[in-house]
Amino acid sequence: MTAPPSIADELRGAGLRVTAARVALLDAVRNGDHLDVEAIASRVRDRVGHVSLQAVYEALHALTAAGLIRRIEPAGSPARYEGRVMDNHHHVVCRSCGVVADVDCATGDAPCLTASDDRGFSIDEAEVVYWGLCPDCSTARSS
Ligand SMILES: [Zn+2]
Ligand SMILES: [Zn+2]
Repeated sequence: MTAPPSIADELRGAGLRVTAARVALLDAVRNGDHLDVEAIASRVRDRVGHVSLQAVYEALHALTAAGLIRRIEPAGSPARYEGRVMDNHHHVVCRSCGVVADVDCATGDAPCLTASDDRGFSIDEAEVVYWGLCPDCSTARSS
């Protein structure tokens, strides 16, 4: 049994410089639920003290580029980040309150990647956003 790699090891493995802020940030994104930048910044600050918003943006950019986190940006809502990467999952977004939840790819082996006509492209990702009302909002509307 080998211990799972620490966050610092993962950063190093991705060729990134390890800083307390980056470790706190990756941890916050993974434990959070599609957090936006403000929410991530406040969690990072809770752990490591003052970090500028600029530094948070830079770290998010570096971690996203390294594939450790994923940036999603539903139309009309601020960018959000998540730690679930590389599995081609999708999102369902509430039109009313903006809450975001994960939706696994349609059953089977990512059938959405099999486009009805690939136009000659080699496709490796399908970005699907389902829109609707979350349970709380639809209950509020019908009552
Ligand atoms: Zn809602
Ligand atoms: Zn997600």
